[in-house]
Amino acid sequence: MAKCWQCGQDVSIWSRDLFTGACPKCQAGGTRPATLGCGTLILIALIVLFFSRPGITTLESQVSGLHKSVDELKKASDEQTKELRELRKAVEDLRKGGVDKGK
Ligand SMILES: [Zn+2]
Repeated sequence: MAKCWQCGQDVSIWSRDLFTGACPKCQAGGTRPATLGCGTLILIALIVLFFSRPGITTLESQVSGLHKSVDELKKASDEQTKELRELRKAVEDLRKGGVDKGK
């Protein structure tokens, strides 16, 4: 049991106003506390949970897309390395050829 911050009476959080957190007595007196009640906090948590879920899946898809891009980049880089190796070999062959011709 927590005490009501306004009237000082022991009141269960479940008997308080779901949205304002006011105890039944304060509510009867027409007082509207500006502080958020337990219900509001739960509601906010649910809303945050609800809205953050699609965000997480979007992030996951973005990450997987990034992985794909990295894989493609790696592939392209591997191909470039292969091409570079072939080019170097060709250049070496050409040099050898040139040396041979020079003899
Ligand atoms: Zn009260």
